[in-house]
Amino acid sequence: MRTIFVKLKTGNIEINHIREMVNEIERENYTLKKWFPRPGLKEKNTELVSRLYIGQSYDKNQFDLVEDGWTHDHCEICFEAIGEDESEYLENEGYFDGYDWICKSCFEELVLADNIEMKLNGLEKIEE
Ligand SMILES: [Zn+2]
Repeated sequence: MRTIFVKLKTGNIEINHIREMVNEIERENYTLKKWFPRPGLKEKNTELVSRLYIGQSYDKNQFDLVEDGWTHDHCEICFEAIGEDESEYLENEGYFDGYDWICKSCFEELVLADNIEMKLNGLEKIEE
């Protein structure tokens, strides 16, 4: 079966992924915010902060807790990185629900669309 991708500003994204996310997202929970770092869990003896820390229990032999260690997030829809450093990340703000981030263009163009199918119909697509 061929897969259909929609051309978004930030890249080509599978149409079914967009549909699922837009249907799942509770738009009233999101507000536009400047991105900010959150604590992260760094794997010991590496520089890799592999997990966001939201108060979960973790193995202190395996991880160090680093305040502001989580340096960027990815848009839930298009995966674009959102971070604080303007020289490194194109997106420095986004819509946030207390956990997940959605980039400004995905939220405003797709999540807030009155009718997502009509919106998707109007966008350029690629089949692979
Ligand atoms: Zn996005």
